[in-house]
Amino acid sequence: MDFSGFNLVVVGAGFYGLTIAHQAATKLGLKVLVLEKRDHLGGNAHSAIDPDTGIEAHLYGSHLFHCNSEEIWNYLNGFTPFTDYRHHVLTNHGGKIYPMPINLGTICSYFGKAFTPDEARALIASQRAEAKTDAASNLEEKAISLIGRPLYEAFIRGYTAKQWQTNPRELPADIVTRLPVRFTFNARYFDDRFEGLPSEGYFTLFKRMVDHPNIQVMLKTDFFQLRSQLPAAAPIIYTGPIDRYFDFKLGELSWRTLDFEREVMPTGDYQGTSVMNYADETVPFTRIHEFRHLHPERDYQREKTLIFREYSRFAQKQDEPYYPVNTPKDKDLFAAYRKLVEQEKNVIFGGRLGTYRYLDMHQAIGAAFKLFENKLKPHFTENCALIPGAGD
Ligand code: FAD
Ligand code: UDP
Repeated sequence: MDFSGFNLVVVGAGFYGLTIAHQAATKLGLKVLVLEKRDHLGGNAHSAIDPDTGIEAHLYGSHLFHCNSEEIWNYLNGFTPFTDYRHHVLTNHGGKIYPMPINLGTICSYFGKAFTPDEARALIASQRAEAKTDAASNLEEKAISLIGRPLYEAFIRGYTAKQWQTNPRELPADIVTRLPVRFTFNARYFDDRFEGLPSEGYFTLFKRMVDHPNIQVMLKTDFFQLRSQLPAAAPIIYTGPIDRYFDFKLGELSWRTLDFEREVMPTGDYQGTSVMNYADETVPFTRIHEFRHLHPERDYQREKTLIFREYSRFAQKQDEPYYPVNTPKDKDLFAAYRKLVEQEKNVIFGGRLGTYRYLDMHQAIGAAFKLFENKLKPHFTENCALIPGAGD
């Protein structure tokens, strides 16, 4: 195939790569080649209709869209309308069900008493006394400083042990600060202004993002197999793993991967909610997804339902990387790779794999907007040199 007509190469068809491709084609009229090694668009946010139940399944785990940015919300709603789905999570601890994230309902149920918000605050304040709040630099210290030790041990310690298999004192605090702690009965998982799911499915959203005559997508195509044939002048936006790009020459960054155990259950409703967490280490999985509940507005059949049990483990080279572990050792290694990135001419590293960061979908889109406005547009419209490095 002749690739000489392309002005831009995007490696990876996740939210980051597709946003770049769409912006470059529609706003600058560039001819964009998107290379994706998997057989579908959307990266980890991919979904498909399950053939046995007709239910839309998020094949890499439930993906809940939420953001505060009107610009990002409007951008996505331009491809498909979104529903008004509001995410709620429950957690099973010791065979009892509690609302998650931790809120007044969780506190009252766990301690078996009707607390007012002030009483609950005072209780937690007394239980967090051991925490050095100003120096909470790791997950355990941070969690205890927020909710005290009893709630940490009930709802966080076991789940985190299963999810990360890493000493919580080695994990960064921001993993757990993603979860709010509330002294009200508000049990919504997210606090953002905008929340919902693509009413025609994520798969439709992704199809529409690349539905443009200037965008060509090649699925099942690994960039490293094709690299020598790509036009030298076309910048490359690389959203694959940063260590893989450099052939792991400085070492491997650590990632968590997930295994999903799919099962069709002979009932119209298995667990009454879309995501049920399992806080205890005696249960081997971290959570169960039941996808029908993500779209209560749809008229799904009621004879059977689809569930995925989620298991977490360390990723090997051949596994899909899901979550960066980000221990202090990983941070040093990433910093060393960042130095190499600066020397790569014409390549920009973006997305969660390229920048070794946990990014929510809206953050991946926001970072892609930024790269487009700050680097790509000036490069193509004002002839500014493309400064190599990270696209964030
Ligand atoms: P990705 O989606 O990972 O896309 C990168 C793509 O690059 C992949 O498709 C990969 O196959 C491809 N690629 C890599 N190497 C090559 C190569 N050599 N050649 C060609 N292609 C290559 N975010 C939310 O906002 N809400 C959620 O509820 C949520 N839930 C999540 C649950 C899980 C289990 C995980 C792991 C993530 C979740 N996220 C969620 C985050 C969301 O998945 C990411 O924000 C989003 O996927 C980031 O997009 P990306 O384009 O950076 O990366
Ligand atoms: N977490 C926990 N118990 C829960 C839910 C989350 O301990 O019931 C911790 C755990 O360390 C997890 C982190 O909080 O990795 C972030 O949770 P989130 O639900 O954002 O994780 P994700 O959906 O990204 O897997």
